[in-house]
Amino acid sequence: MEPHDGRLPIVQAGDPVLRQPALPVPVDEIASAPIQDLIDAMIRTVSGSGVGLAAPQVGVGLRVVVIEDPSEYHEQMPPELLEAQGRFPIDRYVLVNPELTIIDDTPVEWFEGCLSVDGYRAVVPRAFGVHLRALDRDGKPFEVDATGWHARILQHEIDHLDGRLYVDRMLSRTLVDSDSYRDRWGGAPIDQVKHIFGDD
Ligand code: ZN
Repeated sequence: MEPHDGRLPIVQAGDPVLRQPALPVPVDEIASAPIQDLIDAMIRTVSGSGVGLAAPQVGVGLRVVVIEDPSEYHEQMPPELLEAQGRFPIDRYVLVNPELTIIDDTPVEWFEGCLSVDGYRAVVPRAFGVHLRALDRDGKPFEVDATGWHARILQHEIDHLDGRLYVDRMLSRTLVDSDSYRDRWGGAPIDQVKHIFGDD
């Protein structure tokens, strides 16, 4: 079922793998061909499509995530929106067995989407700042402090590893389809969106 460009099919909401806690990768298996091949395939799959991908989204119940937010993604976005979101380019990195700690629980609300909930967006409150500990694809430990959009991506992806989707946390009345988001709501202030949809 693997398409010819090496991208994996994205599992959509409804598949139980998205609702089950993913298992840690045994540290002595991180260097193995199946895990390294999985990581390479996840990188091919997320590139150009999203800012993060968790292994359950390609049907694999393991605690592996790829994150990237290249500057090309930002070229069509208003600079003032990027600044308000605290969104800056992120070089690709791989997380194995990540552990996330909220270090600044100030709630921040923006529209969010998910490759596994194709065609929709909704406003999701997320904590402003997080601390992350994980292993890289060589099994080497590293730590990251993240705020703003980067922190949002990490919270979204690690939710995937715990069997959660953004729809579990969204302000449900703000759910919009992607065309409507693009044409009407993408640039609108979140307070205004919430007011119009009756979620304030
Ligand atoms: Zn997602």
